[in-house]
Amino acid sequence: LTKRQWQTLNRMSAYFLDVLQGITTLKLFDRSRAQIKVISVVSERYRHTTLGILQVTFLSALVLEMVSTLSTAIVAVEIGLRLLSGHFTFEQAFFVLLLAPEFYLPLRMLGIRFHAGMTGIEAANRIFKVLETDLPRRDIQTGADEHEMLLTLHTKTTTFTKIQFDDVFCVFRDQRTALNGITFDINSGETTALVGPSGAGKSTIVQLLLRFLEPTQGEITLDSTSLSHIPINVLRNTISWVPQNPYLFNDTVEANIRLARPEASLADVREAAKNAYAHHFIDNLPHGYDTIIGERGLYLSGGQAQRVALARAFLKDAPFLILDEATANLDPETSMQIQKAITHLMKGRTTLLIAHRLYTVSQADKILVLESGRLAESGTHKTLSQQGGLYQQLVTAFGGKP
Ligand code: ADP
Repeated sequence: LTKRQWQTLNRMSAYFLDVLQGITTLKLFDRSRAQIKVISVVSERYRHTTLGILQVTFLSALVLEMVSTLSTAIVAVEIGLRLLSGHFTFEQAFFVLLLAPEFYLPLRMLGIRFHAGMTGIEAANRIFKVLETDLPRRDIQTGADEHEMLLTLHTKTTTFTKIQFDDVFCVFRDQRTALNGITFDINSGETTALVGPSGAGKSTIVQLLLRFLEPTQGEITLDSTSLSHIPINVLRNTISWVPQNPYLFNDTVEANIRLARPEASLADVREAAKNAYAHHFIDNLPHGYDTIIGERGLYLSGGQAQRVALARAFLKDAPFLILDEATANLDPETSMQIQKAITHLMKGRTTLLIAHRLYTVSQADKILVLESGRLAESGTHKTLSQQGGLYQQLVTAFGGKP
């Protein structure tokens, strides 16, 4: 019952959050009133399960109370009989009678604590489930010093020459197939561009590299070591990920950039911001680097948020860069600054680029064209644009010129 209550509570919170986040959309379409009814149904269900639990709690508490009360009563009767037969003095009898309820007190407490504990266990189970997905699956190397092993792995991940996808499948729980057996290499120092229609599986590849997802079949290796054998923190330390819609926290600009390297000095943070063409606008904010930027970067424009994300990547200075190129409409100057910052950032790093602009795609060393979870074509802009395949169609759709 406690488990069921937790599930209902989780569902209710998730639903509530969803409705709150979408409240502007709901209001625009005048649908917010309809949600009140749904929320009341969900809350009613929660009330029902909670009362179910209370019923069980009270019943079991009642039984425990009865046991201890009856036991105290039996002790009292026994004392009475002994007093009658003269085996006991009154003082002794009175003392034992006073002690009897105390003796049974722990039993009653057990009942109360047990129920509180149940809720705790359910909550802990849920937390551990979330944490477990983050636990690295490592090779058990008997006798090997763990610190040394981590150091070797760190060197290996920072100086890799190739990441290989070998016949990788990714099927979601609802049986939707995002990747359908794809094989390719990402060579160190090169820029690899991923292109393809939406839903082709580009983000899934990024999620696999960052190990937010595991392949259903096939293997991803870094210089022939399976990614699943590299501790997650070591792997993620070598990757800078600049998503299309970067997540910004309700904190100062400085703290948001510093997230990439908590021990960085303010000078480092400023340097990173300068490299990302963000320093100027940050300096013009009411409190400069100490300005709170609101939940999800509410008080920043799309272009500004992207530059904060780029500053993070400069600060992290990781050898492998995953870039999800923004599609948002930016003014020409911001767009040019972002492009310059990206070109600077890519220098000397291995880059995987989810590209949406023909110009960036055409500059890549290798282009992978995805279609419905399969690798349709791969090559350079020059070879692919003459092949008459999907890439050429995309180029034509863009107007033909990079
Ligand atoms: P792209 O980034 O190329 O637009 P994605 O990698 O996001 O494509 O998605 C590939 C396919 O996987 C799509 O058909 C999408 O519907 C499906 N998909 C993505 N995430 C999930 C998920 N969490 N559960 C089920 N299907 C998903």
